[in-house]
Amino acid sequence: MYDVIILGSGPAGLTAALYCGRAGKNVIVMAGTVLGGQTAEIALLENYPGWHGTGFDLIEFMKKQAESFGAKITMNSAAHINTNDNGTFTITDIHGKKHDTRSVILATGASPKKLEIDGARELFGRGVSYCATCDGFFYTDKTVLVIGGGNSALNDALYLADIAKTVKIIYRKSEFTRAEDILRKRVAEKKNIECIFNTELKKIAPKPDSENGELVATTTDAQEILCDGVFVAIGHEANTDYLTEEIKRDDMGRIAPSSLPSGMFVAGDIYSNMKMQVATAVGTGCTAAMDAISYLNANAE
Ligand code: NDP
Repeated sequence: MYDVIILGSGPAGLTAALYCGRAGKNVIVMAGTVLGGQTAEIALLENYPGWHGTGFDLIEFMKKQAESFGAKITMNSAAHINTNDNGTFTITDIHGKKHDTRSVILATGASPKKLEIDGARELFGRGVSYCATCDGFFYTDKTVLVIGGGNSALNDALYLADIAKTVKIIYRKSEFTRAEDILRKRVAEKKNIECIFNTELKKIAPKPDSENGELVATTTDAQEILCDGVFVAIGHEANTDYLTEEIKRDDMGRIAPSSLPSGMFVAGDIYSNMKMQVATAVGTGCTAAMDAISYLNANAE
């Protein structure tokens, strides 16, 4: 029986692991399929105080720090959580193995929202991508589109502008009111970023007879834009598939702590109404761990 199982290995999960480890609790982290989740994909993380570097390096550092206090980190994911009659939990992992624990911290983060237009699904991995830092390299000196107008879209466009020849941001509104000022300024200063406002993509298709995999992206106002790749950054959805329907989610699929049974805690991007930032993930990870530690101490066997 574990004291705490933490689901998710982003900054929220790893912060919780550090605190639980330091409190002498028997803790494992089910890290999911990618250690560090979305944070590991950040090319330059410059708004988490005390850090200026890649997201991946921060995650590696956090992992080692948590492990140094006894937290075990496994590349595994939860498929289901059962609340037992005695108040403990049994987590069934994706391989069918069961893990018993006295408390759980949910920190499974969010994944990119999928673009549901003609061609987007079929061309995923063949021109359509949800990860600029993973796939940007393939578009060296080429033309790419970025879809969306939030911080993710602008960050992706800036990252791609240093690799691709031309980056065109397609945004359905007339200006980037949702994105941070500093990103808007940087985008405006980049000579090879073009912004196409007031339109959306309707369809993506391979260019007929193209020998090098070019695509034609058609917008709702009938523009046909020739490009080599399309990067989608239209928001995020909480990763909560492993939870039962009884646990209430908000309209973004995120969870309020009040909807959880005793002994279950939430942190990071799946925390309802929380700003999606590394700094808030660390804060909620710390709070969830301290609440879990108090709960365990108050309910000591
Ligand atoms: P956001 O929800 O902030 O933005 C999503 C963007 O996609 C919006 O511009 C939205 O348009 C557009 N959009 C949504 N659906 C569609 C669609 N079907 N077709 C076309 N466009 C669409 O998501 P992000 O992923 O950018 O950010 C999520 C959170 O993470 C935010 O809180 C953000 O601040 C944070 N973040 C912070 C970063 C940082 O600190 N530097 C970096 C990256 C993310 P509309 O505006 O019209 O709704």
